[in-house]
Amino acid sequence: MIFNNVNFDTYLKNYPTEDGFFGKYGGSYISPELQVAMKEISHAYNTICKSRKFIDELRRIRREFQGRPTPISHLQRLSDSIGTGVQLYAKREDLNHSGAHKLNHCMGEALLAKYMGKKKVIAETGAGQHGVALATAAAYFGLECDIYMGKVDIEKQAPNVARMKILGARVVEVTEGLQTLKEAVDAAFAAYAREYKDAIYCIGSVLGPHPFPLMVRDFQSVVGIEAREQFMDMTGELPDAVVACVGGGSNAMGMFAGFLNDPVDIYGVEPLGRGTALGDHAASLKYGTEGIMHGFNSIMLKDENGEPAPVYSVASGLDYPSSGPEHAFLHDLGRVKYDVINDDETIDAFFTLSRLEGIIPAIESSHAVAYGIKLAQTMKKGSVLINLSGRGDKDMDYVIEKYGIR
Ligand SMILES: *Cc1c(COP(=O)(O)O)cnc(C)c1O
Repeated sequence: MIFNNVNFDTYLKNYPTEDGFFGKYGGSYISPELQVAMKEISHAYNTICKSRKFIDELRRIRREFQGRPTPISHLQRLSDSIGTGVQLYAKREDLNHSGAHKLNHCMGEALLAKYMGKKKVIAETGAGQHGVALATAAAYFGLECDIYMGKVDIEKQAPNVARMKILGARVVEVTEGLQTLKEAVDAAFAAYAREYKDAIYCIGSVLGPHPFPLMVRDFQSVVGIEAREQFMDMTGELPDAVVACVGGGSNAMGMFAGFLNDPVDIYGVEPLGRGTALGDHAASLKYGTEGIMHGFNSIMLKDENGEPAPVYSVASGLDYPSSGPEHAFLHDLGRVKYDVINDDETIDAFFTLSRLEGIIPAIESSHAVAYGIKLAQTMKKGSVLINLSGRGDKDMDYVIEKYGIR
């Protein structure tokens, strides 16, 4: 399929380019020391990860340890309640081991670390979800694991800090600046620059310098590849629309990778939080402008000094002031439509899916559920496939405390 002069038959092979560009987005804007380390990862990825041995081992792990393939569920009662005849389906990444899609790329990254002979994996975490997924992968492979986390986040996210420690990871408290995600990113990068001979940095989404947006997309594409085949098996046709929430964009890119070359409408859903004012949302693709942060060029939300703006969402996994460079590219091309869902719509969808289907979704995923419901209300027929990126156990206490039982 040719769309806006881009040939999607060969898209996944041709994008990103060898130096990591999706059009003008992506690239690698980092210090010369880190550049050396990234070249090493790039080279390893292009050789090791394409080998039969690596692919077979990762397939076995996905089956035996992660519990893949995750199913697709027909959301029958939810579809009936909308009443337009449109049928909703969910790809169940909430049933992936550890409760979300993040383990898909962490297992890939940690397996690569093992093949490269590294002893340690390093990462930062904000809400702790990436830290837990990486600590899980590190325990599986017997790698050391250092997770950098702001002091403020450590206090806020006690259950995830406990999980990481139980899994054997070292949680390194970061006390610089505001003591949150941004400072944790800087501290993790600094540690990696010191330790890259023995360690590998593992990013939490389709973000960061090349080759991470490529690697994480490819490791997550198992979601879209499985989903396309399962959906065809179940219904005999393709879905009319596919929906996923976008924070950094990894669960969305994984799902979209399976459908980019199909006549399927694709929607990425960003968090509108409390409203459209800067600081009240994290809808970077909708309201942001081109800029470089954390080592890559993308579309980002900036403050008056051009620095990453403060962002907010009820879903802590979505409050990042940019999105992966591939999303910026697909946004400009128009191949994927990006739209927004606010906090209230999200919490409504959280309860609706729980009550009608017996599935408690993560608040992040509830953004995609809310948008899927909206779409189904406006369409006259057809089907919508929602990527249910994770389960809501981690969010229950917070939802009850803040919103009560509806
Ligand atoms: C982290 C997280 C997200 C957001 O990350 P992406 O890279 O945008 O996918 C979405 N859903 C869940 C359940 C998460 O834990």
